[in-house]
Amino acid sequence: MASRSLVWFRLDLRLADQPALMAAATKGNVIPVFIWSPEEEGPAAPGAASRWWLHESLNALDQSLRKKGSRLILRRGPALSSLQALLEETGAKSVYWNRRYEPSLIARDTKVKDALQSRGIYVESFNSALLFEPWQIKTKAGTPFQVFTPFWNACMGGPEPSAPLVTPTQWASPSVWPKSEPLESFGLLPKPDWAGGLRSSWDPGEAGGRERLKVFSSGPVGQYHEARDVMSEDGVSRLSPHLHFGEISPRQIWSSMQRDSAVSFGNGPATYLKELGWREFSHHLLYHFPQTVSEPLRPEFAQFPWRRDHAAFEAWSGGHTGFPVVDAGMRELWRTGWMHNRARMICASFLVKDLLVDWRQGAAWFWDTLVDADLANNTLGWQWTAGCGADAAPFFRIFNPVLQGQKFDSKGEYVRRWVPELATFPVKNLHDPWLAKDVQTKVAYPPPLVDHGFARDRALAALATVSKKGKFDA
Ligand code: FAD
Repeated sequence: MASRSLVWFRLDLRLADQPALMAAATKGNVIPVFIWSPEEEGPAAPGAASRWWLHESLNALDQSLRKKGSRLILRRGPALSSLQALLEETGAKSVYWNRRYEPSLIARDTKVKDALQSRGIYVESFNSALLFEPWQIKTKAGTPFQVFTPFWNACMGGPEPSAPLVTPTQWASPSVWPKSEPLESFGLLPKPDWAGGLRSSWDPGEAGGRERLKVFSSGPVGQYHEARDVMSEDGVSRLSPHLHFGEISPRQIWSSMQRDSAVSFGNGPATYLKELGWREFSHHLLYHFPQTVSEPLRPEFAQFPWRRDHAAFEAWSGGHTGFPVVDAGMRELWRTGWMHNRARMICASFLVKDLLVDWRQGAAWFWDTLVDADLANNTLGWQWTAGCGADAAPFFRIFNPVLQGQKFDSKGEYVRRWVPELATFPVKNLHDPWLAKDVQTKVAYPPPLVDHGFARDRALAALATVSKKGKFDA
């Protein structure tokens, strides 16, 4: 009998640059499997919007596999017992997978590997999600980096990331397939169906990710360094959910930037690769400081006097704060499962600094509503905004939501798109509509939830209570 291997798909839902699949394909019959076990994933278990994406992506992967004469076997339950059952049913003697870096999954995967190896099963894992492994990049003292620029310089100073692997053209499949559970039984799709906005905004799956990269790298990337902060423009790649689910790999993006960019390797592609560098940095931090999923990296922030304010949180999450740019961001998120990075920074800053609500509450809301919810990036984004993480914006630097709107949405196109109440509002006071006394009464839009000047003073006073010197260093 030809040797058989399981390829355990996780956040690597693609066929190209797929080291686990490639390794198994060279050994004999390949049995691709996905195991739905959210209970084991802890804080990395997908939220509601991500579950919708996962359903679509698993469907797309199964279709791609079927075109190769293969298929995706679906199982539910603890990973170890599910794999053991499949090994027994199929007679497979090896399991290949690509690594994940969330603390709960490192612990789970280590247990699975040890248990399988102790039963004589060959197990091998690979890097498919990052340009550089978190343990490869170290300071001169051998410690993990906590500041982005030296981290990225160290990455750039070493060997180039390896080239992406091609899609195996053909591989052997077993003549009899093991039983697969129906995808619908995972219950990933929302009931009632609220996913219309997600469906019309995205094309989950490897082909969708590849197409988006093709479009982005053949034009917009040339202006990325200038356009990436303008919320109304198509200046960013929107590859984040494809990257999170592993439908495209950072190595593929890296090589496409070097090879296909319409513009020679200039400021746009270089700035873009640096943003991928932030993704690398967030995984580096999550790996070395796993407690940061729920605890601030800077310990003094453990005592920060966050406010419990249910009504304010509801107004923020529903996009009814009375600050147009904040409301536009939160409504874009609710409708499409994604928010522009500049809007993420503004909305997150408003929650933690103007409303003084704990960053963990905001992170949980993002986790449930983002299609790109990613434990490493979300944790870094929120700790950065709250000023309590590595290389974070200092807490005392407080975004003014009106000025942010005027600067990064100067024509008001972003606000008009997502806050239809203000669609015909004059641009002059679009970002501070409460000042336009003559037209304000005709618009059904809430007054500002808080006075920004008051909120700023309150935030600085709160900061002083946890700062030893009454003032934080930048
Ligand atoms: P591009 O601008 O096209 O960037 C390309 C890729 O680089 C992104 O897809 C992403 O993988 C990576 N990247 C870009 N900016 C960052 C960054 N600041 N940190 C880490 N990686 C980055 N990103 C997520 O993928 N998942 C999250 O859950 C997430 N939560 C966030 C929460 C907050 C409060 C903030 C401020 C940022 C968060 N980000 C998160 C980072 C960033 O906003 C998104 O990655 C980006 O907006 C995705 O859009 P894009 O693919 O068009 O990005």
